[in-house]
Amino acid sequence: MQWETVIGLEIHAQLATQSKIFSASSTQYGAAPNTQANAVDLGMPGVLPVLNREAVRMAVKFALATNAEIGKRNVFARKNYFYPDLPKGYQISQMSLPIVGSGKVSIEMDDGAVKEVGLTRAHLEEDAGKSVHEDFHDATGVDLNRAGTPLLEIVSEPDMRSAKEAVAYAKKIHSIVRYIEICDGNMQEGSFRCDANVSIRPVGESKLGTRSEIKNVNSFRFLERAINYEVERQIDILEAGGEVVQETRLYDADKDETRSMRSKEEANDYRYFPDPDLLPVEVEQELIDSIRNTLPELPDARRARFIAEHELSEYDAGVMTSDRYTADYFESVLENSAASPKLACSWISGELFSRLNKDGLELRASPIDTDRFSQLIARLHDNTISGKIAKEVLDKMWSSDDTADQVIDREGLRQISDSSEIEKMVDEVIASNPDQVAEYRSGKEKLLAFFVGQVMKASRGKANPGELNKLLQEKLKA
Ligand code: ADP
Ligand code: MG
Repeated sequence: MQWETVIGLEIHAQLATQSKIFSASSTQYGAAPNTQANAVDLGMPGVLPVLNREAVRMAVKFALATNAEIGKRNVFARKNYFYPDLPKGYQISQMSLPIVGSGKVSIEMDDGAVKEVGLTRAHLEEDAGKSVHEDFHDATGVDLNRAGTPLLEIVSEPDMRSAKEAVAYAKKIHSIVRYIEICDGNMQEGSFRCDANVSIRPVGESKLGTRSEIKNVNSFRFLERAINYEVERQIDILEAGGEVVQETRLYDADKDETRSMRSKEEANDYRYFPDPDLLPVEVEQELIDSIRNTLPELPDARRARFIAEHELSEYDAGVMTSDRYTADYFESVLENSAASPKLACSWISGELFSRLNKDGLELRASPIDTDRFSQLIARLHDNTISGKIAKEVLDKMWSSDDTADQVIDREGLRQISDSSEIEKMVDEVIASNPDQVAEYRSGKEKLLAFFVGQVMKASRGKANPGELNKLLQEKLKA
């Protein structure tokens, strides 16, 4: 039997507002427990929620960025359930009238294939608190700092057909929310969380199979692994004649497996009803228009422009626009170095990214800002240094505040392009390797690399490779 995988994602993006969605408490991450929870967040009787206008603006911005419908009249509802980190006994969310309706995003796969994924809806809701187990014996602590933090829950159609597509979609949403600056996207801190709904069905079948929902996936790598594990698990069950049960499962990254958390609740278990403390939200056209004016160039448009204007390959354009900071960095290097887009791109995605990776840093935290990096690229571009030397210079810049020019001057790394100087070295190498010269002249042209190496060595890597090659060939042929 051939199986088809079906995946739909629910993504919780924490909105980057200063204060909570229904109270004035700060949303700052990492404060001492319960220092950022006021009477509203604690669910004290008699308090009233007041909607944060900024959260509404951010949700509308998301709708505009994904060409989604805007719920011009949207309503908050109570989702009732009991949990220690939810003192009110209900979460304020949106049910039948969300602020964002259906939309679409396109994803690009590594092989260049482009696919559209439907957005079902996105709604505003408040986050719950956190149960804390460390530092307690025979008890659980409750930290309500996170209670009331604004979330945008973005629900996709079950349009993904592989773990890779699901990851590409999640990365696209991640990139969009960061481009439009409504979420910092920090997955470690839980600002961007993905739940994956996974089912399988026989190829050719149109009815959806029974799904499980995997929670607690806090990186793209784990998302891919968790889905793949889950697909295998479901195939094993069905092929052994069993049935998949609809349930919520937890991904355990240490064991690389999912395990059952609870059986899946149905919407009507929550007894949703419109929250009587909050008025329906009317989103006026004027507000929509003013938000539309603040939209930056979005990832898809920027990618298309990088291909058209900078003549980057589709792949490179994808890497350079994966987040807004990278795209800005790239364009700033272009502007300040006068180098070709291809050169700038390959040095950013190659040498710069590999050093950042090694140090576990994001580009945002790069020890080398665009000014210093641009100067290095400019020196490559104007042939002051070769690629090999540039790598050395970059290493020296990495651990200091020196500019590329300072390192080049101090270490005497300027490339030798003066042909008479190179000629002298070429002559010396030819004179001291008569056997190799004879072999070369009798047809063993592969030896050219040997001579290049010798001259490079003599110049301590500084000879201009183009000039050197030209002169060597002339002299060897003579
Ligand atoms: P809930 O999880 O609250 O019950 P929904 O029923 O609306 O919400 O579905 C949530 C997510 O699950 C959506 O992203 C949807 O695309 C996805 N989904 C629903 N049914 C399936 C299925 N059979 N297989 C895979 N994903 C599914
Ligand atoms: Mg769900």
